[in-house]
Amino acid sequence: MSKFDVLSRRLAILLDESPIMQKRSSARRYERMNPTEKARLAAERGDLLYQRLQNCNLCPRDCQANRLEGQTGYCGAGEEMVVYTAFLHHGEEPGISGEGGSGTIFFSACNLKCVYCQNHRFSHSLEGNRVTNKDLAGMMLRLQEKGAENINLVTPTHFLPQIIGALSIALQHGLTLPLVYNTSGYEKEETIEMLDGIVDVYLADMKYVSPSVAERYSNAPDYPSVNQKSLQSMYKRKQTIWEGELLKEGTIVRHLVLPGHVDESIEVLTWINENIPRSIISLMFQYQPYFKAHLYPEINRRVNEAEYSRIRDFLEGLDLEGWVQELSPEEELAGVHFKSSLEGLF
Ligand code: SF4
Repeated sequence: MSKFDVLSRRLAILLDESPIMQKRSSARRYERMNPTEKARLAAERGDLLYQRLQNCNLCPRDCQANRLEGQTGYCGAGEEMVVYTAFLHHGEEPGISGEGGSGTIFFSACNLKCVYCQNHRFSHSLEGNRVTNKDLAGMMLRLQEKGAENINLVTPTHFLPQIIGALSIALQHGLTLPLVYNTSGYEKEETIEMLDGIVDVYLADMKYVSPSVAERYSNAPDYPSVNQKSLQSMYKRKQTIWEGELLKEGTIVRHLVLPGHVDESIEVLTWINENIPRSIISLMFQYQPYFKAHLYPEINRRVNEAEYSRIRDFLEGLDLEGWVQELSPEEELAGVHFKSSLEGLF
């Protein structure tokens, strides 16, 4: 699983339980919205989002597919929700996994489909378990019973109407955990607006800043502009609130470093530093040439030590807080070992 180093002195101090931690933790406490009110809000938003499945425009692909009548768009998803696996994840960022693990739910299919995707087995297909809103609500509640620190929705965008409907049911039956929205960052601003008052933590990728790179690896030349707007939208909606070592509210920006793309990574970090400096950075070095990466010679290898040092040194010079992943041995990397299973969650 992933290993993370604490990046900044501020967070290092915070994890050492110093007075600064107490000050930061008590600056503003995490206030849970009344569950009945939140369930009502989720039901309303779920209904509004559901209507968008008729001419699907949930994400920037704007396919206009009628997913209620069996049509599919770029992501391949229909009306029925598909979950590949769900479990207590101890390999997410420390502020998300905590002691109990993050109650992580991996949805099948994806609206981005990167050529190097480590989860391509289910993100590029609908392999997995067909579930109803009620099933998903039950899974959220089981994860809570098992000790999850939060509910972590991985690649949720294309199933958002159903997920928010399920959340409403779960809230009515006792769900109290914070909601983590774990996204590729290829999101419409208006979709993020619909999540106001519902999502507690955004865990969003910033993959690229160059349209040509986004086009080559993710078939999405508009990714940089769309991604930057959506990150700004998330950022302005969320203050950073810690309870001890757990992040209860805020925006984490993940960046996966690609081999041969040090300058791209430096531009990503520069943009974050200039535009959303109070977000929490998670710099990842777990890249391996999965899936179709062998067809792209420049990314058909792992990140090397020299690239790792250059980016890490650059990041240390910025005033950002967060985590940096170590260059882990292959067998410790997350993602590819997942098996489809909902065992114990029904
Ligand atoms: S969610 Fe899927 S069908 Fe809808 S716009 Fe995005 S890619 Fe197209």
